[in-house]
This record gives sequence, structure tokens and C-alpha cells, in this order.
Amino acid sequence: MKPEQAYACYNINKDVRLSSSSGAVFSSLAEYVLKQQGIVYGVKMSEDCYSAKFTRVTDIGGLVCLRGSKYLQAKVGDTYKQVKEDLIAGKFVLFSGTGCQVNGLKSFLGKEYDNLFCVDVICHGVPSPALWKKYAEYREKENGGKLKNVNFRCKDDSWIDFGMKEVMEKISKNEAEHIYISKDKNPYMQMFLRDYCLRPSCYECVTKKEKKSDLTIADFWGIKDVAPEMNDGMGTSLVLIRTDKGQRAFDYIRSITEVKEVSYEAGVKCNPAEYKSCVRPSQRDTFFDDMQAMSFEELEAKYAMPIKYSLRTRVKNKIKNIAKSILQVIVGAE
Ligand SMILES: Cc1cc2nc3c(=O)[nH]c(=O)nc-3n(C[C@H](O)[C@H](O)[C@H](O)COP(=O)(O)OP(=O)(O)OC[C@H]3O[C@@H](n4cnc5c(N)ncnc54)[C@H](O)[C@@H]3O)c2cc1C
Ligand code: SF4
Repeated sequence: MKPEQAYACYNINKDVRLSSSSGAVFSSLAEYVLKQQGIVYGVKMSEDCYSAKFTRVTDIGGLVCLRGSKYLQAKVGDTYKQVKEDLIAGKFVLFSGTGCQVNGLKSFLGKEYDNLFCVDVICHGVPSPALWKKYAEYREKENGGKLKNVNFRCKDDSWIDFGMKEVMEKISKNEAEHIYISKDKNPYMQMFLRDYCLRPSCYECVTKKEKKSDLTIADFWGIKDVAPEMNDGMGTSLVLIRTDKGQRAFDYIRSITEVKEVSYEAGVKCNPAEYKSCVRPSQRDTFFDDMQAMSFEELEAKYAMPIKYSLRTRVKNKIKNIAKSILQVIVGAE
């Protein structure tokens, strides 16, 4: 479903951007709504950190817990009902979630509301909450502590090569330890990125064909080739405008963002999750059976071992890297 306009964009507030997954466009849009005494609905981690759930935010301070992607299926609970009550009370409402959650809200409401603004994220798929809980408990046992918070998209190393940062409260020492694990070494992220643990509907996502949001946000993978001047390594968002309401909101936030218009094709070239579902791995059903029967360590050994590249691929990658370094030296010398 082709949108009306596409942009590369990032929030000019560096701190907000570094604590967001991409270019922090979500925070700019949320501020736009809150400044009009509106209400923002988005996803935060639960207090025990074992699940993710929708929450209702009415002030800018409340946005902190909504920032960042939580890579597990979020509980909707009675959120749709709350949104409806706010809409009927005449509040300006921003609802943000995955495409199927936005479409689900629209079906629940059964009619269009002028005061509803919906934002979805380009969505690869959502992992099983049961797997997340199993992982969190395993990490707590391993570290002798309590997981207090998690950043699934920590940019300490880089935006593209991100890692997971866990805040683990050490009961014995009465202090919190911050543990960073690169996505390539984190078993939970590997099970997610290898598509083993997604909801069945994510492999046949009907939302890709019909998006009912006003605006879509995503990582602008491939920005270094499309608009290198918009790539400073701290995260750039892709913004897809789907309605006039989406365009009005985007025009409003332009003063607090850096923006460059791009073609839709260039925007999604490295982001196939916008238009196609991921392939269901042949081991997907066995994975879920094993998840019930095995410990997390056993699951890790079976499904999240580092990928072993063939000698041919390793040599090819090495040559590519050498060629890249030589090119950088030549360009730098010019
Ligand atoms: C499960 C999942 C899969 C994704 N897959 C892709 C992908 O394949 N390609 C891509 O480009 N981008 C993907 N994204 C989106 C991307 O990671 C960023 O969330 C998005 O670019 C917005 O970033 P931001 O910096 O503007 O704001 P951020 O502050 O990072 O994003 C916050 C927004 O994400 C929402 N959110 C966070 N966790 C969840 C959740 N579990 N369920 C529903 N909504 C949630 C919040 O409500 C809020 O709207 C995915 C996000 C999620 C949650
Ligand atoms: S991939 Fe599709 S079905 Fe799965 S969570 Fe995302 S939008 Fe929903």
C-alpha cells in the first residue's frame, strides 16, 4: 500500500533521539498531541519487566517509558475501550502501535473520529511474550538479581549494530548493574531476528496490504546510500504519510526535526517488512514445543548459536571489507 509521501527524518533533541529506537519521530508526534491537551497511547514494559502493555500518557514526562521498541507482543487489555471514551469526551488522541493493533482499534471503533490520530511502526513481527518471560527469568537467575528495565535498542555501540541493555538490580549489593549485550550475541534477539518466535499471523500479515494508520514510522535502513547527509549514526527514521491528517501532524513537527523528502521506493528498499511478511522457518513449530519443554540454556544451544559462515563467505566478506577501507582512504585523500 503506497503512501502519499516519504521522508527521512530525525528529532533535533539528541538525548531524546539516543533513547529512542530510530530518529525519535514518535516523541515529536507525541509532543505535538500533548501540547494540544491530547492523550497518547503507546507501549511500555510492565513493572516486573516480564511483559509489555499499552498505557495512557497525558504529560511529556510520561513519554519516557513509551520510548524505544519493546520486542514482544504487547497486551492491549481494555485500551481500545479507553481510547473510545477519550474520543467521545472530545480529546485529541494519538494511538501508536503495530499495524494490526491500529487496524484492530479502527474495527473496534466502527467509525472514523476526526480527533483520532493513528501511527503505526513498520513491523517485522512480534515475539512470544512467554519466550520473553522465560529469557528474563533466566537472566535474573544467572545474575542473581531482578530485572528492572530493558532497552532492546541500545545505541551505545551504534544505531545499526545495536545491543540490548538490561538494568539488573543486585539484591545482595543493593545496587543496579547495567548489562550490555550486542544483538549478535544476545540469544533472545537471535531467536527474534531468525524469526523462530513470532505470532502465527506475522508470517501472513494482512496489515501489509491495508494500513489504516495516518502515518507510519520505521528505521531508515539504507539511509547511508539514499541521503548520507541525514546519517550521523544516531538513528534516522523513515516516515510514510498515509492521510491528510498525517501530513498536517508531520508539517507541525518539522520545526523540531531534520527532514528530507525521499521516494517511497528508496525509503523501503532495505526495509521489506513494510510490504511483505517474513518467511515462516521450518523449525518454527518445533521451537514452540521446545520452548515449553526445555530450559532457556537448552533453547539457546539449539536455536541461537552464532551463525557459522562458510569459508567462501568469510573470504568474500574479508575482501569486501578491505576494498571498503581502500576506497575510504582514496576518498579521504581527495
Ligand atoms: C515488534 C516491533 C517490530 C518492528 N519491526 C521493524 C522493522 O522490521 N523495520 C523497521 O524499520 N522498524 C521496525 N520497528 C519500528 C522501529 O523499531 C521503531 O519503533 C520505529 O522506527 C519508531 O522509532 P522512534 O525512534 O520514532 O520512536 P521510539 O520511541 O523508538 O518508538 C516508540 C514507539 O514504538 C511503539 N512500540 C514499542 N514497542 C511496541 C510493541 N511491542 N508493540 C507495539 N508498539 C510498540 C510505542 O508505542 C511507540 O509508538 C518495529 C517495532 C516493533 C515494536
Ligand atoms: S507482523 Fe503484522 S500481524 Fe505481526 S504484529 Fe506486525 S502488524 Fe501485527
